[in-house]
Amino acid sequence: MDRNIAVQTAGQPQQKPQAKPAVLPEIRQDLALYPAEHDVDGAPLWHLHDPLANKYYRMNDRDVQLLALFGQKDARELKRLNQLIFKDNVDKEELEELENFLRMNNLVKGDAMQLGIYQNQLDKAKEQVSWFAKYVRKPLFFRFPLWNPDKFLDKTLPNLHWLGHKATLYAFVFITVLGIYLFSRQVEDFFSTFQYFFSWSGLTVYILALAFIKILHEFGHAYVAKAHGCRVPMIGVALMMGWPVLYTDTSDAWKIASRKKRLQIGAAGVAVELVIASLSLFLWSISPEGSIKSAFFLLSTTTWLMSVFVNFNPLMRFDGYYLLSDLLRVPNLESRSFNMAKWWLRERLFGLGEEPPEHFRPPLVVYAYSVWVYRFFLFLGITYIVYTFFFKVLGTILFFSTLFSFLVAPVIKELKVWIGLKDKIHWNMHTIRSCGFILLFLGLIFVPWQRNVPVAALLRGQIADLYVPEAGQLLSMPDPRQDVIGENDILFELMSPQLERDIQQATSRYTELRWTQASQGFDSNLRSQARIVNSELVTQNEILRGLLEKNEQLVIRAPLSGRIVDIAPDIRIGDWLPSGLKIATVVDTRNLEVVGYLEEGQLDRVELGMPARFYPENPEYGVIDAYVKGIDLVAITELDNLYQSSLFGGNIAVREDSSGVQNLVGSHYRIELGLYGANELSQAKVVRGTAVIEGKSTSFFNRVRKRFVAVFLRESGF
Ligand SMILES: [Zn+2]
Repeated sequence: MDRNIAVQTAGQPQQKPQAKPAVLPEIRQDLALYPAEHDVDGAPLWHLHDPLANKYYRMNDRDVQLLALFGQKDARELKRLNQLIFKDNVDKEELEELENFLRMNNLVKGDAMQLGIYQNQLDKAKEQVSWFAKYVRKPLFFRFPLWNPDKFLDKTLPNLHWLGHKATLYAFVFITVLGIYLFSRQVEDFFSTFQYFFSWSGLTVYILALAFIKILHEFGHAYVAKAHGCRVPMIGVALMMGWPVLYTDTSDAWKIASRKKRLQIGAAGVAVELVIASLSLFLWSISPEGSIKSAFFLLSTTTWLMSVFVNFNPLMRFDGYYLLSDLLRVPNLESRSFNMAKWWLRERLFGLGEEPPEHFRPPLVVYAYSVWVYRFFLFLGITYIVYTFFFKVLGTILFFSTLFSFLVAPVIKELKVWIGLKDKIHWNMHTIRSCGFILLFLGLIFVPWQRNVPVAALLRGQIADLYVPEAGQLLSMPDPRQDVIGENDILFELMSPQLERDIQQATSRYTELRWTQASQGFDSNLRSQARIVNSELVTQNEILRGLLEKNEQLVIRAPLSGRIVDIAPDIRIGDWLPSGLKIATVVDTRNLEVVGYLEEGQLDRVELGMPARFYPENPEYGVIDAYVKGIDLVAITELDNLYQSSLFGGNIAVREDSSGVQNLVGSHYRIELGLYGANELSQAKVVRGTAVIEGKSTSFFNRVRKRFVAVFLRESGF
């Protein structure tokens, strides 16, 4: 839900109209006043509702009383009222200020002056749209009204009153508890269903389920608002960061004085989702295996995750935000907490001794900083995902727009404020401490104190892959549990009937030729062919030797001593194996090497012979001292093993193309590390880890700069 409101506070006009008539203008007849929650300090407040703009303005008691003086044509009557109600203690400025406020927000009847102001505002609004707002922000944030559900809600609400009954609640609680109990007995089944959804068809179903839930969510808000007597003029779609979200206009909720009822409207959406989640969890646990079961699984997981991480999260402007705002009794929580946090920062930095923008409350400061940090990283994360998995250009644009709107623009704005304050800033404890912190911060960024170069690496023994040399039938294979094998041990034996036949043919032809040669002495005819026979005999001898050699290769021996790993799955003695099949790998677990993948930006920090250490991911293997033994001259474009691939939990970002090749996202150089001391791998073939090289020192700034340049060069295609 999104309450489309701008609660503005009376008495703060944005600008002054030029001329002033003698009497106060008339207030528009369609405006309505509603009592609001008390202020934090206990003063009564009112909401003035403008139904045309559907905006609410917050007013204090005094301003509301002053409204009685507006629209009086007669100056004498005005004076009389002033005496009667206010004991003549209303001064001209106060009335002027209120009038300005009403005029600026178009809350008075349209006299000539008001029309002028209105036109002026329209012109201004046209001018003020900056290119940034127009081309960057607009497509990412806009609203699209779809449907006015008011009449439909009026008609259908009576049929749904049973939902609000106590009995419904008890039934729901019972089903939830039962569902959780049944779930706890088949937890493993639940998570095994998860696999299915990592596919395009799974994703489609997922999106449909999400849309369905969101529609019910909005109806939750709408019905509860209706039940509390509000008008619900619009359900529509809003685009936030290019992501469509539904919204329901329940701004009418502001006219409800009871905070409890307002909270009910705000929480109704999530309540609906929780009901869906519980019901579907229950139905999942009792339905038979099949697509219906998966559908319930989907509904329950989606809703749980969405409710907790999106809707209830007060750091984004979803339901959680408005609920928190209402709970804290701070309308416009975001801008008020931001102002408070900025004031707090200035006081910490400069010790100005200025008054806070309103009654100081630490939670507001904490809230503001949480929002800033959370949103910055959230948008950075979205940018990263877009960049890595979808569109590079859009990702880059998003990155710069995120950086600009979340970091650069606010910092510049705040710096401008500081510059404006420069006459008030003097040397004191606060400013000295701030300077110290700034120097320390700059030092951390610009002083080259960082020596270590971390490199994604693998520790492995020397490896030899074994392939089937010729299609044939498997006669023998090693026991996979066999621990150690020696060099030249027979591992696999194959038999190729085709080859056998060829050998047989070649042998008989050879024998025949030998016979012919031997009998040359008795036959003069044959003697004349002696030359031909001799040369054919040589050829046939070659062929036979080749075939026998091939046959020899069908006995696959261990090329090095070590352990046999990765025997091709599902092969049995008697199976027919195709030629070229990778049948097993032999690892020499005593002669170890470390291979690292150095990022391009770090290349000039590493030289041959530099000391390094290898930290395995599994600490059982212990840290190993090493040195840089070799650095490739050419960057690799695809990863030669899967252990460090990000798709398999490694540290190197890769993208798999349609043919299954793991293409590197960034440029990497292969480096080889020599190891000190004798090491042995007991179980694993390969150990993933990080090699830390004691490289040339560099500053944080330098590293970030290099990385940027590398990405820029790569993406721009130089
Ligand atoms: Zn909502």
